[in-house]
Amino acid sequence: MSEPASLFIDGAWRPAAAGGTREIRCPADGTSVATVSEAGVDDVHAAIGAARRAFDEGPWPRTPAPERGDLLLRVAAGLREQRERFARAESLDTGKPIGESRIDMDDIVASFTYFGKLAGQEAGRLVDAGDPSVVSRIVYEPVGVCGLISPWNYPLLQAAWKVAPALAAGNAFVLKPSELTPHTAILLMELLDELELPAGVANLVLGAGAAAGAPLSEHPDVDLVSFTGGLETGKLIAANAAATVKNVALELGGKNPNVVFADADFDAALDNALNAAFVHSGQVCSAGARLIVEASLHDRFVDELVRRARGIRLGGPFDDHAEAGPLISAEHRGKVTAYVQRGIEEGAVLRCGGAWGDGPLADGFFYLPTVLDEVRSGMSVLVEEGFGPVVTVETFTTEDEAVRLGNDTEYGLASGVWTQDAGKAERVAAGLRHGTVWINDFHPYLPQAEWGGMGRSGVGRELGPSGLEEYQEAKHVYHNVRPQVTGWFADHDG
Ligand code: NAD
Repeated sequence: MSEPASLFIDGAWRPAAAGGTREIRCPADGTSVATVSEAGVDDVHAAIGAARRAFDEGPWPRTPAPERGDLLLRVAAGLREQRERFARAESLDTGKPIGESRIDMDDIVASFTYFGKLAGQEAGRLVDAGDPSVVSRIVYEPVGVCGLISPWNYPLLQAAWKVAPALAAGNAFVLKPSELTPHTAILLMELLDELELPAGVANLVLGAGAAAGAPLSEHPDVDLVSFTGGLETGKLIAANAAATVKNVALELGGKNPNVVFADADFDAALDNALNAAFVHSGQVCSAGARLIVEASLHDRFVDELVRRARGIRLGGPFDDHAEAGPLISAEHRGKVTAYVQRGIEEGAVLRCGGAWGDGPLADGFFYLPTVLDEVRSGMSVLVEEGFGPVVTVETFTTEDEAVRLGNDTEYGLASGVWTQDAGKAERVAAGLRHGTVWINDFHPYLPQAEWGGMGRSGVGRELGPSGLEEYQEAKHVYHNVRPQVTGWFADHDG
């Protein structure tokens, strides 16, 4: 069998220089999906070199911004046409239900469309220098070579939030998706190649974090590293990037509270509490994994939550009845299992779940939707991100206590608040220190609205105008159209 050529470097498909490969298996049943190339440091350096040349000498950074935007709109059209092909690939790699992958595809199209339209809108701004002889303006230029490192939970979506603005701004990039879920990134590169993006502007390296990711945060020719993933990896990347003073953007984890007041619309709050915690089996950075419910509502709400959680149908990507899929890997399921076990040892009450899927689910990495009740501040399940189908329950009696508990986390990505009292909703939303606050909803986001975290959930913002600015440098051009002698230094010999 010939080696797979799944690295895209300088406009060509190549195998890894050292011949490395990795087999990708579907986490729902362990079947082999494909074997792809596994890059080593030499491949990553070759990709960085190609991106550097494309940026320094190639046409892309000098292409008018509206033309760059047009290319992104053509990417969006191509993704729309190939929606099913991409969705299948995403579901095979992640195990998630195909219906979820189709929704992800629509969101990805929306991201490319948004940045495609935004690309040509702003040409900079004039600054009043207070002198009619001076034209002072701010122009926005691309940062340069971008290292883009993305996770496995929303593989193409998280990559798209980086690739689309990076291209819109005129950068060249090297993308390194998670080693577990490479396929949609490969398909995206095929599409960019078909659309004749100049060689070297878009490069793809596949492989493990230490070999294929770390060089992107260390190499002096990379100007910006944008990372989405776990907190510990994020700290490492920021530390590595410091040596060459790179721009750093970090989208890290979350420990997201979902605050439910007794006066909330019960059915909507319950339905959304299930979505918040169990969509994609909780493998969502913004998962509402902490239910904080008003004490007077606790028994009724949690009893119903447990009953509904028990009824959630798990299954493989092409099972029409499946509402959620497996965890990504055996290793990850082991972490979730240990996390729940620690919670129980520390005094949490297991109301449902806490076990692996069996019977027809036994071949995959399924974990049953789990509710841990009577959880209190300081327990490890409230500190660590579980990243599985596990929701913890805390109670409060006053509005101030609800806000205090909601902010009782080192993370600050997202939170929800449920009440029919608009004033209370706004006060609580103002008090919560999270990058997104949903009032009477959970999970929706918009490409035109900034996404990102406060606290240890990250640095910078994706999406929205700030999501483009992340990939731009502001330059001040101060043009004196009537130069004059200042006379500060006298001509002592004259
Ligand atoms: P991870 O940190 O293990 O890996 C993320 C990426 O970093 C992968 O591509 C991995 O190969 C790479 N990597 C690992 N070690 C590296 C190193 N030393 N140098 C450079 N790259 C390295 O995260 P994961 O398990 O893939 O994803 C889950 C995490 O991502 C969760 O913590 C989740 O909350 C977070 N996440 C955050 C957001 C957000 O928008 N804030 C979105 C999705 C996921």
